[in-house]
Amino acid sequence: MRALWRGALDLIFPPQAIDGGAAMAGGLSAGAWSRIQWLDGPVCDGCGVPFEYELGVRCAACLARPRAFDRARAACLYDETSREPILKLKHADRTDLAPLFARWLGRAARELIAEADAIAPVPLHPSRLLSRRYNQAAEIARPLARMSGVAYLPDALVRRRATDTQGGKSGSGRKRNVAGAFEVPPGRGAQVAGKRVLLVDDVLTTGATAESCARALKSAGALRVDVAVVARVKEIAGLAI
Ligand SMILES: [Zn+2]
Repeated sequence: MRALWRGALDLIFPPQAIDGGAAMAGGLSAGAWSRIQWLDGPVCDGCGVPFEYELGVRCAACLARPRAFDRARAACLYDETSREPILKLKHADRTDLAPLFARWLGRAARELIAEADAIAPVPLHPSRLLSRRYNQAAEIARPLARMSGVAYLPDALVRRRATDTQGGKSGSGRKRNVAGAFEVPPGRGAQVAGKRVLLVDDVLTTGATAESCARALKSAGALRVDVAVVARVKEIAGLAI
């Protein structure tokens, strides 16, 4: 039993954080890692928002306005604690954190992965890729595809125009910012046509980026587009229709 528990802990936390007690991993102490709010309970099947009680299959917002993607799952809530390692992967070259996040997604999105034909990351625009040198979503998607034995499509989807950062924008501002920003390039349609695609990103806020990607994949013939992210905000602002 102890070995089993230990195995579960290793899956979730970097082992060095557990062993060292106060040792740091991903810039977080073991105590900080333990404050991560996992979304292990009942969630909305559409957007992955945690339910206080099991209320039904989809939340009111998803019932009122179905999303362009089919289902979304997040490993944890995006808050002060989870924000730190996520931003480190995004902006501080901490690509060593990506396999850990991939394991989190492997657990949180296991139902979606089991039904996926292919895994694709939300792409960066080439100019941003050049300055950052890596796409954090791809860093997570690649090991996730490898460990789950699902085909990996690193370039099925491209960002055809450089968009402003989504940070600080309202829900409708975010939607306008990414509308039509993504496409499946001519010649790559066969990679997604008739496929169930799992789209991977680091954070889900309003869902505007994921929806824009899902529309592009579906117009190229994808049968279904699910979304798996490391963290999501608890309440999606700007959902009013
Ligand atoms: Zn929902």
